[in-house]
Amino acid sequence: MSHTIQRLGRNKNAYLGETVDINRILQDDLTAAREYHWQIEEIPVSDKPVLFAFRRAAARTDCKTRKIYISTGIHGDEPAGPLAVCQLLRLNRWPADADIWLCPCLNPTGFPLNRRENVDGVDLNRDYRHLKSAEVRAHVTWLERQPRFDLTLCLHEDWEAHGFYVYEVNPDDEPSLSGKMIEAVSKVCPIDRSPVIEDRPAQGGIIRPDLDPLKRPQWPEAFYLIMNKTRHSYTLEAPSDFPLSARIAALADATRTALDKI
Ligand SMILES: [Zn+2]
Repeated sequence: MSHTIQRLGRNKNAYLGETVDINRILQDDLTAAREYHWQIEEIPVSDKPVLFAFRRAAARTDCKTRKIYISTGIHGDEPAGPLAVCQLLRLNRWPADADIWLCPCLNPTGFPLNRRENVDGVDLNRDYRHLKSAEVRAHVTWLERQPRFDLTLCLHEDWEAHGFYVYEVNPDDEPSLSGKMIEAVSKVCPIDRSPVIEDRPAQGGIIRPDLDPLKRPQWPEAFYLIMNKTRHSYTLEAPSDFPLSARIAALADATRTALDKI
């Protein structure tokens, strides 16, 4: 099935595909979150729109619950993440034993500009070490109040990619979820099986970066999470030169697979 999904050839040095109305998506998120009894928290951001954080408690408390964090929308030129999260909220099929924290859009001022950065030109996903932007400061202040997570998922897109791929950071060698995610996504979206992706060695769509965040001057959200909140983290990358429906399906199916298999 996925072999029939072709690259569009639209992206030239940037994402040039469909754009979305982020406020409309957030309204749909809020409607679904209220309908299915999520706790809705507004995270104030000094001179900018609030960020939302949704929290869903496990339906079953008789067993050990798993704490799972999901975020997306940190890059304003990556619409599939917010759309996938919206689809998952409306579908409302979550594992009964999972406590879920969900940030449905971390860069609400970037989307109206179809721009990776926020309205001030800051790449928020490089600001988690020095916390210069109001959005990331607000997000980290909120994260500091949350417990540690058993799993974190950050949903992204890559305008250059030849297919879906995933970064895995799993320093304690817990059973990996990457292969299961790739297998699930391969049914709905091509996989980028290049031996090198984003200058890092990759295998079958999986990058396991060998890195020490302390040596990096700039941190993405995933570095902050692995240094402070979790020992098991994935960054999911949908290929944004492919049809939007395939990218949404890729991110939604990968997320569902991770939630089901952990
Ligand atoms: Zn991104």
